Amino acid sequence: MALRNLAGGRWLEVAVETLPVYNPATAEVIEQVALSGAAEVDAAVRAALAAFDAWSQTPVMERARLMFAYKAQLEAHFEELAALVTRHHGKTLDESRGEVRRGIDVVDFACGAPTLLQGRTLRAVSGGVDQDLYRYPVGVCAGIPPFNFPVMIPLWMFPLAVVAGNTFVLKPSERTPLGAVRLAELFLEAGFPEGVLNIVHGAKAAVDALLEHPAVRAISFVGSAPVARHVYAEAARHGKRVQALGGAKNHMVVMPDADISEAIPHLLNASFGNAGERCLAGSVTVAVGQDPDPLLAALVSGAKKLKVGPGDGPGVDVGPLIRTEHRQKVAAYIEQGAGEGADLLVDGRSEMSRPGYFLGPTILDRVAPSMTVGREEIFGPVMSVARATTLEEAISIANSMTLGNMAVLFTKSGRAAREFRERVEAGMVGVNVPIAQPFAFFPFSGWKDSFFGDLHVHGADGIEFYTRKKMFITRW
Ligand code: NAD
Repeated sequence: MALRNLAGGRWLEVAVETLPVYNPATAEVIEQVALSGAAEVDAAVRAALAAFDAWSQTPVMERARLMFAYKAQLEAHFEELAALVTRHHGKTLDESRGEVRRGIDVVDFACGAPTLLQGRTLRAVSGGVDQDLYRYPVGVCAGIPPFNFPVMIPLWMFPLAVVAGNTFVLKPSERTPLGAVRLAELFLEAGFPEGVLNIVHGAKAAVDALLEHPAVRAISFVGSAPVARHVYAEAARHGKRVQALGGAKNHMVVMPDADISEAIPHLLNASFGNAGERCLAGSVTVAVGQDPDPLLAALVSGAKKLKVGPGDGPGVDVGPLIRTEHRQKVAAYIEQGAGEGADLLVDGRSEMSRPGYFLGPTILDRVAPSMTVGREEIFGPVMSVARATTLEEAISIANSMTLGNMAVLFTKSGRAAREFRERVEAGMVGVNVPIAQPFAFFPFSGWKDSFFGDLHVHGADGIEFYTRKKMFITRW
């Protein structure tokens, strides 16, 4: 039996085509996921619409109380959720724990709804006239997450939407749908009314049906840049508000004054953690200065020491990729990089012979933005190394990308750090930190083709996105 859709509090079997869900560490099929079409999407949206009136009028204190109960459920099932992520995504258990924690952070933030949803007032704007701003929910909102954070990214979306009084339809990634199912079960157990959160499984056809459905008022999307662009354009064409987060090609600039022994574990973690399948992965290390050899030697020796294996295995640093097709794509990038003139210093393709979708840490040196591997998102455990003589040159390499999610700098110089922050064209910038991820109370703020829209996910932007404003102007 395939995973069921959730509409109006009922788990529905749907008679549609299915896709297998795998354990990427073993290549075993562990589930089937339904590929819903317009009819199934319509059922979920109608359920969300039917629940909207009562839910939007539920007092905010009651909505927040339920969110606190949900937080308790998630904490009680923390280890179970982490194991589930590892089982069908492949990342290590520690990485899964990190993901679940960052997801719960958003629920913590959503518990502050009575403060977050407050409006503003200004008395006496003119003779006897007062003006008040109130926030209202938008209506039925939909969320379309990617495969690489099956618990965290759904939690970027629906907790803030529902605590603001909206109802929600979540279309999980068809490659990693199990996290969303468990999140929805725990949501119902926390006591949320039926229809507030609905799940429709599927792929492109389900997404397109959500984009077209007249009752869906807002779309939150996270995925690759081409699909983000499509979702942004289609949702806007159908009159919806939309936030669409795209892919990444993040640069990590290492200045000659950086503390190499401190920077190396950070660089390795940024490139090879989560098997490189994260939008904040460090894709290109830019070595600044005359002599990059000590840095390169330390990167090569560190990469070779990383243990590749199943995410729940002892001491494992790098889990498998998501699917055999994706691994083929990453392996083809390695081949192409070498063909375009890069030096292959570490070749992780030696790990491809074992069962599962493994590919080990790989390092390509002398990569330039003119090469495919220097420009395109690889989304695997591949670190490219580029060389620059000055910080200015390093920044111009990073700025030549069409994507602008994250950029980080390793240095001891405050002046270089400031220069980097001012000039690099990326929305999340770090100094001496490998992964510049904002916490739940700040926006996840990609730039360029890494983000299409105005209001980012979570933080104050999240509240703005999931509410519409009403101005109340009075004279008595
Ligand atoms: P994807 O774009 O293939 O899929 C994302 C979602 O869109 C899935 O739910 C999928 O079912 C749906 N989808 C896929 N193709 C579609 C199409 N043609 N039309 C309509 N819907 C479609 O992305 P993915 O492979 O699941 O995830 C990896 C990508 O997500 C990477 O590019 C990564 O950088 C990006 N990502 C970005 C962020 C961010 O915050 N910017 C975070 C995580 C992942």
